[in-house]
Amino acid sequence: MHRFPVLVLIVAATACAQTSPGRNFSGAEALVLTGKAVAFGPRPSGSPAIAKLRAFIRQQLASCGCEVSADSFTGRTPDGPVPMENIIAKFPGKSGRAIAITGHYDTKKLPNFVGANDGGSSTGFLLEMAVALKGRPRVDDIYLVFFDGEEAVHDWSDTDSLYGSRHLAAKWTADGTIRRLKALINVDMIGDKIFRLAWETNSAPSLRNLVWDTGDAMGYSAAFPRQGGPIEDDHMPFINAGVRALDLIDFESANSFWHTPEDAMDKLGEQGFDVLGLVLLKVIPELEREK
Ligand SMILES: [Zn+2]
Repeated sequence: MHRFPVLVLIVAATACAQTSPGRNFSGAEALVLTGKAVAFGPRPSGSPAIAKLRAFIRQQLASCGCEVSADSFTGRTPDGPVPMENIIAKFPGKSGRAIAITGHYDTKKLPNFVGANDGGSSTGFLLEMAVALKGRPRVDDIYLVFFDGEEAVHDWSDTDSLYGSRHLAAKWTADGTIRRLKALINVDMIGDKIFRLAWETNSAPSLRNLVWDTGDAMGYSAAFPRQGGPIEDDHMPFINAGVRALDLIDFESANSFWHTPEDAMDKLGEQGFDVLGLVLLKVIPELEREK
């Protein structure tokens, strides 16, 4: 007797495919998406794992009503050339102006380092933001940018770090996108159970005040303390290019498990995702109202 193979069609159900337009940002869903990214294991630039994550991100974005493009380049690292790729999702508006929400999806090359908070949380946050932006009418173009190569391959320096954001800032300067940008807001390490952002002092004061004042008005003052200092992150190449840019980073979570194998899913909670998602969905229309 012949046996015929049974073909099982597994339809990958993405968050956007399952969601009707206009659903609010969900911290719980962002945490689930972070877990899916982290499940690919260590994801340093150029690794097979980050290529798989890239395919997952593209699959997730496919049904969110955005235009997805790739900004591919070669990172000149101390270990030699590394292929890298920023992923850009554009939700088109009508004004000709643009707002960018950004974060990195690579993880630092360290033994057994899966970067749940550092690399994972920004990925899950941006993917859930795509779900929340789906089908909402826009004034300005909204870009969600997933940076590759945020981490230093060896030790952090001007030339060994921020490969993806340096590349995109140069590209957007050359093609004129920079001049259309009203604001760029970068998120990094926002998944810690105890969520407290740094008052990052390289950031544009007017944009930082807008986000902090919005957080206060929504009752989240504990997450928005007005103390901190300068931190170098993916916003810096844009600050240096004259963009009104802001870094949203909870660097207090760095005290114990930053860049160690302890940066795993058990350290994360929904709260930071929720707070930041809801605050930024209030901030974006405020920015759109600005001329
Ligand atoms: Zn890091």
